[in-house]
Amino acid sequence: MSRDPLDTEIQFLKGVGPKLAPLFNKVGIKTVRDVLYHLPRRYEDRSHLPPLSSLRPGDWATVRGRLTGVDARPISGGRVIIKAMLSDGKSGIQLVWFNQPWVRKKLEAYKGELIAYGQVKEGSTWLEMASPEYELIDEDGGEAFARITPVYPLTEGLGQLFVRRAAASALDNYLGHVVDPLPENLRRRYELPPLDWCLQAIHRPQSDDDRKAARRRLVFEEFFVMQMALAMQRAETHQEPGIAFVIPESIDEELAAMLPFTLTGAQQRVVSEIFDDLRRPEPMNRLVQGDVGSGKTAVAACAMLAVVRSGYQACLMAPTEILAEQHAINLRNMLEPQGITVAVLVGKMTAAQKKKVYEQVRSGEAQVAVGTHALIQEGVEFSHLGLAIIDEQHRFGVLQRAALRAKGLGNPDVLVMTATPIPRTLTMALYGDLDLSIIDELPPGRTPVKTHWRPAVDRPRVYETVQELVALGQQAYVVCPLVADSDKMQAQAAEDLYYRLTQSVFSNLRVGLLHGQLKSAEKEATMEAFRRHELDVLVSTTVIEVGVDVPNASVMIIEDANRFGLSQLHQLRGRVGRGAAQSFCILIADAKNDEAQRRMEIMVATSDGFKIAEEDLKLRGPGEVAGTRQHGNLDLKIADLILDGRLLEEARGAAMKLAAYDPFLEKPTYQLLRGKVLEWRAKINSMPVA
Ligand code: ADP
Ligand code: MG
Repeated sequence: MSRDPLDTEIQFLKGVGPKLAPLFNKVGIKTVRDVLYHLPRRYEDRSHLPPLSSLRPGDWATVRGRLTGVDARPISGGRVIIKAMLSDGKSGIQLVWFNQPWVRKKLEAYKGELIAYGQVKEGSTWLEMASPEYELIDEDGGEAFARITPVYPLTEGLGQLFVRRAAASALDNYLGHVVDPLPENLRRRYELPPLDWCLQAIHRPQSDDDRKAARRRLVFEEFFVMQMALAMQRAETHQEPGIAFVIPESIDEELAAMLPFTLTGAQQRVVSEIFDDLRRPEPMNRLVQGDVGSGKTAVAACAMLAVVRSGYQACLMAPTEILAEQHAINLRNMLEPQGITVAVLVGKMTAAQKKKVYEQVRSGEAQVAVGTHALIQEGVEFSHLGLAIIDEQHRFGVLQRAALRAKGLGNPDVLVMTATPIPRTLTMALYGDLDLSIIDELPPGRTPVKTHWRPAVDRPRVYETVQELVALGQQAYVVCPLVADSDKMQAQAAEDLYYRLTQSVFSNLRVGLLHGQLKSAEKEATMEAFRRHELDVLVSTTVIEVGVDVPNASVMIIEDANRFGLSQLHQLRGRVGRGAAQSFCILIADAKNDEAQRRMEIMVATSDGFKIAEEDLKLRGPGEVAGTRQHGNLDLKIADLILDGRLLEEARGAAMKLAAYDPFLEKPTYQLLRGKVLEWRAKINSMPVA
């Protein structure tokens, strides 16, 4: 294959050279292509040259004229101030530089016209422009002025002028080598200008409309490639042979017999979407999203029952031992009365206990297994696994699917349940290869949790409220402040708070302590005591964040709530409001800044997890939301998941349409595109899976 000229190293680009190249490398620009895709951060419209007499203080303006005098004066601290008078023949403005002696030399020697850009300010006699960007028209080539000028993101040592020149040189020398990965039919359908035109319009725009159209196309392309990669992944999964479950007709009656309540409309819809998938011969790969308390566990139980009644085994994997154990309790309550054996596997079990579970699972005696990821990581073998349910917020990777297959388990259906709602754009970016089901309704009879935000000085009053509610037979959580990323220090903070409370305000109550450094047996014993109401108050770290279900607990106190992210607060709040009593969430926080204040206000105002997730995305950015930091799909160079949501929708629609017709991009017109898509797939699949 011949080398793509755009891969030429930056040091060989005319106008850059070996001396400047390291500066470019430092900001990640290694090749000519990188220069072309180094997009301006913003633009300044310098195309308009107003007469100097029309300038007003505060204006950002481009001025042009001749210098009528350059003057340098020492000021305090041995520094120097340079003032140069620029005139357009009718009026003048003073250009001012502080402590840049080389400017003086340059200006004094220059006789031609000069052009400058900056903000106009009131001076003592004349209008002034302080530290303007300028160009000597006869010497500097006019790349930066009298037009819409790109302003690039920079780092130390790499000036705008260098980047502008490099971009100009890349356009002048390499634009002819740019090949468009999007074939013309696609471009026409989605109104996307050709790539070479776009690159030109990005770096040397003729108008604002041009540069916007150019950016739109680059963003679209990036999203489209990403979505096409996910669509290809999806197509590949669906191509593999799976299990076409034959669910017996009696299933509806059996579900009704198993469930202690009737499913909500949303649960019913999701269950039937899952059943449809189960019946199909290709493997299911479905994501179930639902807010805290929307009843995902019941949906999981329905799927498991259907699978077992079709003659297969099912397993459920949870991210933590506490959660795995709780799922086990709930699932046993529902499934065992139906004659189904549920085995539990967690890390802390003795070798003998584990061995017994292995045996039960291998022989098929246990139709359902619940555990942590140990379920597929260790030497577990199922006799005929049909369904794997993953309860977590991280992605179930291609790697794990391969791990399931490698055990000779065939190709089980996979259901991923997310514990946290995430915004639609993030769902598309992260889980775009999965089919999506949303439980958008809470079970009936819930009284919404009342959320209050209190300053730290109100703490005594808050503790009094806890005392009152405990006297009524209710229970409370107190979540300790988030101190550090270290589990040890977090445990210390919880112990401190526990000690303080039991020594003073809660000395009359039964208080338990829960944190990540405790042994599993201790954690479990404490959780169990709280569940049985042998404790009134549980002091805890965010270990209780996900999934813990104690309906009698009606108060959630969150200390230093401003230190938590929105989604985390929402998860914590979801631990209460599960029973009949009115529940409260009290956020104790002295909001130190606007963002913290905004977060507290959102929590008080809404309990809709999807809305909260959207706000979280806006406040913190996609990398921080829902533990998505490690995802390669988010490694976007140009597109912005927050600002470009509509384009993502459009690109996804386009990718779906193309995937329905040529999912593996085998048609000749898509060969260039295919290369890009495969690159993106490689990136997704090489990401570590949490
Ligand atoms: P999630 O895992 O989605 O946060 P859970 O599955 O833990 O929610 O369910 C939350 C609570 O709601 C549980 O106590 C469960 O028994 C109850 N529940 C679930 N579905 C229903 C329903 N359709 N009607 C009444 N209660 C329900
Ligand atoms: Mg749950």
